[in-house]
Amino acid sequence: MKIEISTKCLHLEDEESNCNHYGAISYPIYQTATYAHPEVGRSTGFDYSRLQNPTRKQLERTVAALENGTDAFAFSSGMAAITALMEIFKPGDHLITDVDLYGGSIRLFDNIIAKNGIEFTRTDCSTKDIESLIKENTKAIYIETPTNPMMRVVDIAKVSDIAKRHKLLLIVDNTFLSPYFQNPLNLGADIVIHSGTKFLGGHNDTLAGFLVTNKKEISEKLCFIIKTVGSGLAPFDSWLILRGIKTLAIRMEKAQENAFAIVKYLQTEPKVKKIYYPGIEGTKDYEVCKRQARGFGSMITFEMESAALAKHVLKFTKIIPFAESLGGVETLLTYPCTQTHADVPEEDRIANGITDCVLRISVGIEAADDLIADLKYAIDSYDGYTRQYI
Ligand SMILES: *Cc1c(COP(=O)(O)O)cnc(C)c1O
Repeated sequence: MKIEISTKCLHLEDEESNCNHYGAISYPIYQTATYAHPEVGRSTGFDYSRLQNPTRKQLERTVAALENGTDAFAFSSGMAAITALMEIFKPGDHLITDVDLYGGSIRLFDNIIAKNGIEFTRTDCSTKDIESLIKENTKAIYIETPTNPMMRVVDIAKVSDIAKRHKLLLIVDNTFLSPYFQNPLNLGADIVIHSGTKFLGGHNDTLAGFLVTNKKEISEKLCFIIKTVGSGLAPFDSWLILRGIKTLAIRMEKAQENAFAIVKYLQTEPKVKKIYYPGIEGTKDYEVCKRQARGFGSMITFEMESAALAKHVLKFTKIIPFAESLGGVETLLTYPCTQTHADVPEEDRIANGITDCVLRISVGIEAADDLIADLKYAIDSYDGYTRQYI
């Protein structure tokens, strides 16, 4: 039976892991480090929780089902997942990445992974010629779409064609749209990344990360890596993410509906100079996103007329907190230049459009009118003289 993604958030198609738990509807938390063996050479399938734990397994099976992958691996954070993934490369390998990525990923590549002898070239994968950057030692293309924070849309199928022609892996960080709106493996990606901290968990209360694949040889490598490096997600946190996923569909729909309402308001606001949201019709990003995804999500980046006004807004909203992170039920406002992207080299950051006038909003599930009133109050209360906030 083929089931819809909103149903997959609640039920696994096969019942293998749903039986023998006294009928518990909520999957049990197996708070155990180790497992007894009946005899030498026999195992329950679980030996030690660094390698595997039933609660984590249930979560991994759920995320694999949501992404149409064969295997998923749950890590203690999105960064732990990306760090583990980099272990499949070796010194001398070269990766092409987008210029616009989560700041923490850029920090990881530049400061930790590069010193292991892995080389990176950054380009705008939504517009630039990727193929001309491929070298003999290139092993993978690494993208996000929409990108963080500039919301550019990369054509996954097009990049996948390039990757396949040159026998490269295509890695897609799918955090921003979540599996509810977009499934990169179906468009030719080999590995999908999620910061489970964001939409999958959805409640701004738990860190988690995922790698999902549909290739056996990648899965075997990742299985060895997670067992060896030990950054798998703990049982209780696995349970929290499983619980979060139950409401993924309705959260994504409501947050997107709110995002459209906020975009509509921002378009009427003369102090807002630019809005970056793939759901705005009439752009190439809109067309590509419409073709490859089932929605546009709830992340909006916008540019205020001055840095002073941007900082004022961060101080004067009453409902919306000024905080890092995204994808939770609570709407959050972020200042990429001092928060998520503070460690990106300044000239790269500014060349990419992340100036001190840019704000990013992760829209939650509150009443849209309250969110709009909050933003409007913060913007209108700026008279240009509140210089102490500059
Ligand atoms: C937050 C984020 C990450 C990192 O995930 P953590 O769970 O915070 O470690 C990676 N990629 C994207 C796109 C993110 O937004």
